[in-house]
Amino acid sequence: MLFATVIGLIGLVVNLYPIHLFANIQLVLGNVAYVISAILLGPWYALYTALIAVSGLMLAWDSLHVYILFGVEAIVLGFARRRDIYALYASFGFWLLLGMPLFYLYIYLFTDLPGSHIAFVSLKQGINGLVYASIASLIIILTPSFWHFTSKVKDRQRRTFNNQLTYSFTLVITIALLIAAMMFNNQFIERQQNLLYNNINHSASHLASSTQAYLDFHTQAINNAAQWLSLNKHSIAEEQILLSQLHASYPGFVTMLLADNKANVIAASPASLLSKVSGAQKLNIAERDYFIEAFINQRTYMSPLFVGKGFGNDPIVAVSAPLYYPSEPHKPIGIIEGSLDLNAFKAIDDIDTHSENQSMLLIDEKGRVIYASKNLKLTTLSEFSYSQPNVNYISPFPMLNINQQTDMAPEYVYASVTLENGWKLFILNPFRPIVELVEDMYLATFAILVLSLLITLYVSRIISSRLTLPLENIANKFSTNKNGSGVDYAVDEESPQEIYTLFKRLQQSKRQLIGYQLELEEKVAIRTVELEHANSQLQALAERDSLTGLYNRRYAEDKFREVQDLCQRTDEVIAIALLDLDKFKFINDTYGHHSGDLTLKTVAEQLKTDFKRTSDIVVRYGGEEFLLIMPQCNALKIEQHLESFRERLSQLVIDDREDNHQFNVTTSIGAVLGSGTYSQSLEDWVKLADKNLYQAKHSGRNKLVFTTLVEAKDSPTEPL
Ligand code: GH3
Ligand code: MG
Ligand code: MG
Repeated sequence: MLFATVIGLIGLVVNLYPIHLFANIQLVLGNVAYVISAILLGPWYALYTALIAVSGLMLAWDSLHVYILFGVEAIVLGFARRRDIYALYASFGFWLLLGMPLFYLYIYLFTDLPGSHIAFVSLKQGINGLVYASIASLIIILTPSFWHFTSKVKDRQRRTFNNQLTYSFTLVITIALLIAAMMFNNQFIERQQNLLYNNINHSASHLASSTQAYLDFHTQAINNAAQWLSLNKHSIAEEQILLSQLHASYPGFVTMLLADNKANVIAASPASLLSKVSGAQKLNIAERDYFIEAFINQRTYMSPLFVGKGFGNDPIVAVSAPLYYPSEPHKPIGIIEGSLDLNAFKAIDDIDTHSENQSMLLIDEKGRVIYASKNLKLTTLSEFSYSQPNVNYISPFPMLNINQQTDMAPEYVYASVTLENGWKLFILNPFRPIVELVEDMYLATFAILVLSLLITLYVSRIISSRLTLPLENIANKFSTNKNGSGVDYAVDEESPQEIYTLFKRLQQSKRQLIGYQLELEEKVAIRTVELEHANSQLQALAERDSLTGLYNRRYAEDKFREVQDLCQRTDEVIAIALLDLDKFKFINDTYGHHSGDLTLKTVAEQLKTDFKRTSDIVVRYGGEEFLLIMPQCNALKIEQHLESFRERLSQLVIDDREDNHQFNVTTSIGAVLGSGTYSQSLEDWVKLADKNLYQAKHSGRNKLVFTTLVEAKDSPTEPL
């Protein structure tokens, strides 16, 4: 909020003094403030900043429209920013679609600006918009402290390199082109204006001196004529002849006349003029200024413009001087008068060949038109009225409007000279051609800008493709598993050095990577084998007894479930035998532990040899107890087989060479044979076998007690 306010106030100050370019064209730069606000803070802060900044323009231009137009612009730019649209593009879109049409409508409805100006003024406003949008964008890019707003400045979506490149180009080109164009256009226009003004000034002074010379000449002529006529006395007839002679020498007078001391016209040239007036009635000019000034004040006089009476009603300028008798040089006897030919000013006007556009205007000291070039459409003798154009049109030269006095736009640039007799000579040059020149230049600038932007689009696409295409190819190439194929299509001769280096490095590291990968795979394979081996060892350790290498009790319990399940489903029998070595304590005590261990190992070996079916499970069940699990055994032969084992063991001589002992060992065996359905629990089976073992021990040891379970209906199997 503070930031929005501060830049808003800066914008306000800058806007108070818009840079004047030409006539009513001004460059507004304070609006940079709310574009920055729109980019950094979003639409609503932008509107807030805009309302502050634009107040400067409101004060400078005194026009409420600025709040609406620029307020809308601020909001549009803010929303565009939210959608990751670059400010300059957004500004371009805004002015094209909304800003210029709105501005056009406003000027059309609420101002007196002529229609031909509106389109250009709107275009100028749009160009101005682009200028401050570009400047704002550039300020943000170049001002590191704005990067504190990273979350705002950063785009939500990642942009392509092409987009970034195009925008950078666009920004630089827009600013460079517009500022350069404005500077050079302005210089050119200023020079053009100076040239024009010098030209009209020159024309004015030239024509003024011509006019002055014309007037002086004819004043002098009347003066000379008066003196000449005063040299001698003449009869009326003579005077008429002399006047005609004089008139012939001074064709610049339309008419000439002589009047006597009663103000009666006594001679006129052309002579036909007098005959128009009826003989009896004499033409009297006593009331005329030119008579009074010449006769009473006795001076050579040039009148302002007035409508002639007597000889017709044309507007005339009269030059008059007093006449005397030679003997009485201070008592006038009449006057001589000549009426100036106003058409002579047209001849003077025609001298000015500098420009067809220039018009001449001559007004007398009372502000009435004596002569005006035809295109000014002013009538002779009319009061010259004009207006000063709108104050917004600033020009180093004076300007005025004649025909369109209510228009804001100036009609003419002029130069004026006041003649000795108070007359004023104006040289007028229409203003519109200069404006058109400016308009043409701005239009050309705009066209060049659009063209440059199109070229920018194209060029940056090509440049970025030199970077992005190979990058994409490289990315594709190094991401797919297709090794080796199409190695060189990723980069070509056009690819920049950096890309080529990157490609080479990637190629190298990929090769290295493949090497590492193979090495790693090999290592993993070796380790896996080792691990599997260790695993199986570990499993063996967990499942087997370390002394004898037979399965241990835990394994037996686990495995039994599996075995029982199978036998239950296939309706097979299971035989379980529990063996306990006889008097083993005695062996230990007599021959030592080493012999005891050897005995256990020997028994185990014998068990493995005798019960070697894959389905047989030989287990060391406790200290000197062994368990045999024999699923799917031959029910008829199993008892015999156990019996023969017992027999064979008792025959076996255990030879402990280390301690030099030989001895025998016997075992008692309790065994059961039953259907697999009897019980899932090994404990149940062992309990039955243990009962038999107990009997075997009791009946004198080295015995086999074997029972077969018979199934009882609906109840656990009971021994017979
Ligand atoms: P009976 O005929 O009643 O079975 O008499 P016995 O001596 O075999 O029975 P007893 O349960 O009293 O003795 C078992 C002996 O087995 C006790 C123990 O020292 C010995 N023994 C148990 N495990 C091992 C072993 O791993 N190594 C050796 N050397 N001796 C063991
Ligand atoms: Mg025992
Ligand atoms: Mg024992």
